[in-house]
Amino acid sequence: MIRELSSEETALFKEYIEKTAAVVAALGDRPAAYLHSYGCQQNVSDGEKLKGMLYEMGYDFTDSPSDADLIVLNTCAVRENAEDKVFGNIGAMKKLKESNKNLVIAVGGCMVQQEHIAEKLKSSYPYVDIIFGTHTLHELPRMLYDKLSGGKGCVNIPSVDGIVTESVPVLRDSKLKAYVPIMYGCNNFCTYCVVPYVRGRERSRRPEAVTREVKSLIAQGYKEILLLGQNVNSYGKEHGVNFAALLRALDAIAGEYKICFMTSHPKDCTKELIDVIADSRHIEHHIHLPVQSGSDRILKAMNRGYTAESYLELVKYARERMPDVSLTTDIIAGFPGELREDFDKTLQLVKTVRFDMAYTFIYSKRAGTAAAKLPDPVSSAEKSAWLRELLEIQGEIGLENNRGFIGKTFEVLCEGHDRHKPEYLTGRSRQNIIVRFSGGEELIGKFVSVKITGAMPWAVEGQTDV
Ligand code: SF4
Repeated sequence: MIRELSSEETALFKEYIEKTAAVVAALGDRPAAYLHSYGCQQNVSDGEKLKGMLYEMGYDFTDSPSDADLIVLNTCAVRENAEDKVFGNIGAMKKLKESNKNLVIAVGGCMVQQEHIAEKLKSSYPYVDIIFGTHTLHELPRMLYDKLSGGKGCVNIPSVDGIVTESVPVLRDSKLKAYVPIMYGCNNFCTYCVVPYVRGRERSRRPEAVTREVKSLIAQGYKEILLLGQNVNSYGKEHGVNFAALLRALDAIAGEYKICFMTSHPKDCTKELIDVIADSRHIEHHIHLPVQSGSDRILKAMNRGYTAESYLELVKYARERMPDVSLTTDIIAGFPGELREDFDKTLQLVKTVRFDMAYTFIYSKRAGTAAAKLPDPVSSAEKSAWLRELLEIQGEIGLENNRGFIGKTFEVLCEGHDRHKPEYLTGRSRQNIIVRFSGGEELIGKFVSVKITGAMPWAVEGQTDV
């Protein structure tokens, strides 16, 4: 069942924020919290909510776990090696706990929502005080209050889902780009993916709540709004409003800003949606459309719900409507049972579409998913060789695509100094292409016209067009 927090639950949530703030204030100067979010943007967005709650409860923030009075790890379950890393980090915290008995350690997020992980945490890491799942983010104030008031600590990982919370404070990491979750969970059960098990079934925020938030962010000066959901294309079923209609309403808000979204599922990406993007003023001409494989046999085994042909039709329509559209994708190499001939079809699809960027992964087995039970005879060495081949082909395509931009002028949102070459500024075009250019500090946070003069495999460079 999908529901929003009741007024009683919201009042209780606020009451616990205040009660915890009173206990925290009694500890002296604002104590320090170390918060780390692993994984995808949805998790980073959850991290901003955790940060918002902690700030309201009286915490300041530190980048160093050893200076912290409270450590919160917001974990990710998508890759096994990420889980190993989290366990390694938690293991290293034992020493911190031994040297500071008042340190509180909380571990939450997708990874913890899996029963076997929660059990392992309880049995092997007894110094972790609070364990909370993805459906109980809003209960952190109560759990923290119990712990700080002398309780033993607690574990709160209900399997129920379907809750949409609107009252949680958010402390955003950026003053320029804002993450706005529009829906939570996923109904698709792609056979390799753990998300539906840890984030629950799809549920969408009300369109008026999303619109109100986006209007407020634009009024505050945010220039990029990233709408988030595991499958934004199936937004709004319970409200009788689809994603295309939501985008159209958001695009009508006055101001200078751009809207991006993540992630689209090809089976739910409609021509209506492509039309809305094409006809908009503020929506990026960029679609991240994870194809995963170019083989229909593997797409079926992955339970993706589309074929290579229907995917290519969507691409064709998007390019007809928006000749400047940028297309990016995700690809898995070495899905269980995948043969070389299947992988060749993926390479062929990559050459046909000519993606601007592809996020490529070797298949990672996730406990509890359907694919984890499939025979997987191809060796990891062979899968790595496939991946290298894919990377090489995509690298060449990316560079050729970027060279094709030379001489064009992009409208770029200037985000700041380039991380690798700080003497340059950097930003992204309306097509989400990374652009490096020279210019003064005063351009940061503004939309700038940049003429493209050079290309690299991952980005282009240019000069401000004044
Ligand atoms: S659409 Fe598939 S890959 Fe994406 S979150 Fe849902 S189950 Fe996972």
